[in-house]
Amino acid sequence: VQVRLLPRGPRQELHSDRLRATHRLPRVPTPSGSEVSALLTIGLIGGMSWHSSAEYYRLANELVNERLGGVHSARSLLSSVDFAAIEDLQRQARWSDAGDILASAAKGLEAAGADLLLICANTMHKVIDQVSAAVSVPILHVADVVAEAVRAAGLETVGLLGTAYTMEQAFYRDRLASHGLTVLVPDGEDRALVHRVIFDELCFGIVNDGSRAACLNVVSRMADRGAQGVILGCTEVELLIHQSDTGLPVFPTTSLHIEAAVERALASA
Ligand code: GLU
Repeated sequence: VQVRLLPRGPRQELHSDRLRATHRLPRVPTPSGSEVSALLTIGLIGGMSWHSSAEYYRLANELVNERLGGVHSARSLLSSVDFAAIEDLQRQARWSDAGDILASAAKGLEAAGADLLLICANTMHKVIDQVSAAVSVPILHVADVVAEAVRAAGLETVGLLGTAYTMEQAFYRDRLASHGLTVLVPDGEDRALVHRVIFDELCFGIVNDGSRAACLNVVSRMADRGAQGVILGCTEVELLIHQSDTGLPVFPTTSLHIEAAVERALASA
């Protein structure tokens, strides 16, 4: 099937332009040539929580549609796990049991025809090697994508908001550091606050003004310590915090992750 890539024109405001304006995302190159033969199928390992998986799905379709026009939409597959099981295993530090659940979801997506996979949560990148070992299709690491965006914005020192696992353990910060970034995390009380907002509110779909203000104070304190930007390193946090809320450049992982996947799906087609 041959589909035509629409030229990017000024006639309509594109979702990716809005994303770039509100989140200061770097502009990514358009695939060369005006035709693509088919789109790759993006496999989403979601449900962690489903509130952010819905964003991945919506953004995938919007981003593909603005590039291909008409009624084009993303080819995608979603394997959505029961977050209660994952959350419980996280609290018990039974990471490899949680990894087994994701590995089985990944295998199902590959068997169903996914060409590339995304783990739709930052925290569960702790087990990306275990999940990768179960499949032969690539898994796009969210920290690599966000680190490239931070570097493209010309920044080196960034604050990190996420779950306590993401902020406190080495797996995520080290991956960012491997791209040459210096990563600051909030102090103990602030980390507990952000973790609570994620698990008690955002994972239930609750977006609270008071929690936004509190998290923005956490961001300001990291800025005072030298953060030049802030990574929203939990896929629900961009439901709460937007670029318009702060003068510090914001790097939203859900938007960046799916945008990078869509670029691959278009470019490789
Ligand atoms: N979606 C979240 C993340 O990006 C948190 C949920 C979880 O702990 O998996 O890390």
